[in-house]
Amino acid sequence: MTTQLISPRALSPRRVRELQVEVRALARTRDAVILAHNYQVPEVQDVADFVGDSLGLSREAARTDEAAIVFCGVHFMAETAAILCPDKTVLMPDLDAGCSLAASITADELRAWKAQHPGAVVVSYVNTTAEVKAESDYCCTSGNAKQVIEAIPEEREILFLPDLYLGVWLERVTGRTLNVWLGECHVHAGIRPQDIVRWQEEAPDAELLVHPECGCASQCMAFGNERTHILGTEGMIRFARSSPKRRFLVATETGILHRLRKEAPEKVFEAVSERAICKYMKMITLEKLRDSLRDWRYVVTVEPEIAERARLAIERMVAIA
Ligand code: SF4
Repeated sequence: MTTQLISPRALSPRRVRELQVEVRALARTRDAVILAHNYQVPEVQDVADFVGDSLGLSREAARTDEAAIVFCGVHFMAETAAILCPDKTVLMPDLDAGCSLAASITADELRAWKAQHPGAVVVSYVNTTAEVKAESDYCCTSGNAKQVIEAIPEEREILFLPDLYLGVWLERVTGRTLNVWLGECHVHAGIRPQDIVRWQEEAPDAELLVHPECGCASQCMAFGNERTHILGTEGMIRFARSSPKRRFLVATETGILHRLRKEAPEKVFEAVSERAICKYMKMITLEKLRDSLRDWRYVVTVEPEIAERARLAIERMVAIA
C-alpha cells in the first residue's frame, strides 16, 4: 500500500522545479534561511535549508547567521523563532496557519489554572501561543518532554499543558503524577485504535512508530508490544535509520513520510491513517513561500514584554537535550 502525500494543489514537476529555483535565488538575495517542519508538503521540505521538528527548528533559528528566517510551519513556531531571535526578521508565508492544539488554552485560562495550584511548576508543550509561554516555567517538545519533566524536583507539583495524550504518556514514562490540561490535536486524536489494530493484524512484520500526541487508546494498545515505539518525529527518523528492520507503519501527520523516505530510502514507510493530515501545515505552499520572500511578508512579531517572559521557558527547552 502506498501513501499519497497531499498538496493543496498539485503542481507539475517542472513548475515545482521553477518555483524552487526562484525561492532559492530569493533566499540568497534576501539573506534568509528557510526552516520547514517535518509536516510540510514535500516540495517545501525539499527547498528548505533545514527540515525538522519544533525543537530542531528552534535550535536552528537560534544559531542562524542570516538576517531573516522564513518559517514554513504554523504560527506558534514562527512566534518562537521571533522570541529567540529578536534582532532578525521572521517571516511566515501564511498567517492563517494555526494549530488546534495551541488554540486549546488561552493565557487567561492558564492564569486561572495557576491560581488554583499556587507554587506549581508550569510545563507547556511548545504548541502554545507566546502569551501562554510567557506564563510558563518550561517549554518542551515531544522530543525532550520526558527530560524536562525529569529535570524538575520530584516534590514539585507540575501543571502540564495543553496536550492530554502527551501528558498521559509522560506520566507513564516518568512515573510522575501531573495535572494535565484536556487539550488535543485534532489530527493525532483522530488516529483511531482500530487503525492500529488493523495494521497490527495486516502487517505483523512491521515496526509501529506512534507519536505521543496520538489518542490515549491508541497509545495504550501500543504498550506491552515490543514492535511499537512511542516517538516524536525526529525520534522516528533516528529510529528508522538505525533499525535493522525494513518496514515501518507511522502514526502521525503524513508529511513525515517524505522525510523518512529521504532519510532511509532503502526502507518502506506507510501511514497508519491517511486521514492524518494537518490542514494548517498544508497551508504553506511553494508559491506562498516565494511571495513571502519576494514581498517580505508576513512579518511575525511578539510584544517585547511577552517575548521577554516567554524566552526563559523556551531557552530552557532548547537547552535540555
Ligand atoms: S498536527 Fe496538530 S499539533 Fe501539529 S500543527 Fe497541526 S493541529 Fe497543531
